[in-house]
Amino acid sequence: MRRLRWVHAVGLAAGLVLQTFAGAAAADAPKVKPRYASCGDAAPEFIQAAKKNAETLDTMEWVPFGIPEIGWETYAPLAAREIGTTCGFGTPAFAQALAGFQARFNLPADGVFGQDTFQVFKGVWQERRPFVMARAAGLCPDGPARTELAALPKEEETFEREDRALRADVLDAYRRMVAAARRDLPSLRDDPKLLTLFSGWRDPLDDLFRCAVDGGCDGARRAMCSPHRTGTAIDLNLGWAPDHGADSTNPVNRLHQTRTEAYRWLVKNAARFGFVNYVYEPWHWEWVGESAASATHAAAAAD
Ligand SMILES: [Zn+2]
Repeated sequence: MRRLRWVHAVGLAAGLVLQTFAGAAAADAPKVKPRYASCGDAAPEFIQAAKKNAETLDTMEWVPFGIPEIGWETYAPLAAREIGTTCGFGTPAFAQALAGFQARFNLPADGVFGQDTFQVFKGVWQERRPFVMARAAGLCPDGPARTELAALPKEEETFEREDRALRADVLDAYRRMVAAARRDLPSLRDDPKLLTLFSGWRDPLDDLFRCAVDGGCDGARRAMCSPHRTGTAIDLNLGWAPDHGADSTNPVNRLHQTRTEAYRWLVKNAARFGFVNYVYEPWHWEWVGESAASATHAAAAAD
């Protein structure tokens, strides 16, 4: 009984934090261990699923991208957006929305997040990326003609690295998106480097050369056909965890980035500007144009 009361108290405290995921866990906020918390109206049968999700959020041992990871919080903001809830990841409302998603894709609609459900999320997200679909068909999309590229002034939106070009229409969309983010998030004005680009269009030959010199590109294979060749992929500075870099795939770094206000804003708003995220890399977004709208359609209830 004593323990139950303690859990309940923690649940209430967590509930304040988890009322909306958008407001939860700013970049440097101390981590509040999410537990069962109430948000919105949900059918009582999802309480157990909510407790399970709250438990596994930072404990589930699984292999979402070929290497073992613990917990699924890194992927939770995009998942919440997809299923159209702003309730915390450990709430019955989240579980109920998740069950709706599962039912749509013929999964057991139990509202419990797991590897099978994630595989479906991943498929849905990857299908929004024409580049990924082309690769799946064995193709490597051509890059734009040089005349379609627009250069970024070095001092303007770039972040330390040398790539300073995007397809002109994508650069325009990127600028409009960042301007909107800065209007919505006063905190961004304190750090003008946030949401600046650290990679845009990349010449495939440069990629190949860099991989040969620096390594770390999964051999030359990936570099030979990187989405950055299209001039529609952007790498955005979201900050980084201590001892990591802006594009470190270390799980600690990716979790840190997905907790930032800037990332949460992108999850909610980037589709309006035609951008979708590659879920394994919080910093990597691709302009896909109107097909991004299918993301906002699913999430319309969350606005
Ligand atoms: Zn990238």
